[in-house]
Amino acid sequence: MKIRSHGCPVCGYPGIDALDAVDVVTHEVCPSCSMEAGYEYGVEEDAAVLVELRRQWLVDRRGVWWSAQVKPPEGWNALEQVLEAGLPLPPLG
Ligand SMILES: [Zn+2]
Repeated sequence: MKIRSHGCPVCGYPGIDALDAVDVVTHEVCPSCSMEAGYEYGVEEDAAVLVELRRQWLVDRRGVWWSAQVKPPEGWNALEQVLEAGLPLPPLG
């Protein structure tokens, strides 16, 4: 299925666009999870792939904010960001 254009489809960070106005990947790198539109995932991406990328970030990398240049919003919380974006959580165990 086609990924969402606005916000990171992996972690839900709202500050990036994964697709441009004509649905081409932007190659924006998400400051929250480090995933790049067009590299880790494509325009059409299986939901299970996105969940697995989300798991790698939330579990393997403990949901740590990635970018040193872009600071997280005040009071930022990785799990809340995912949930507020309406994205399904991966297995957290
Ligand atoms: Zn992200």
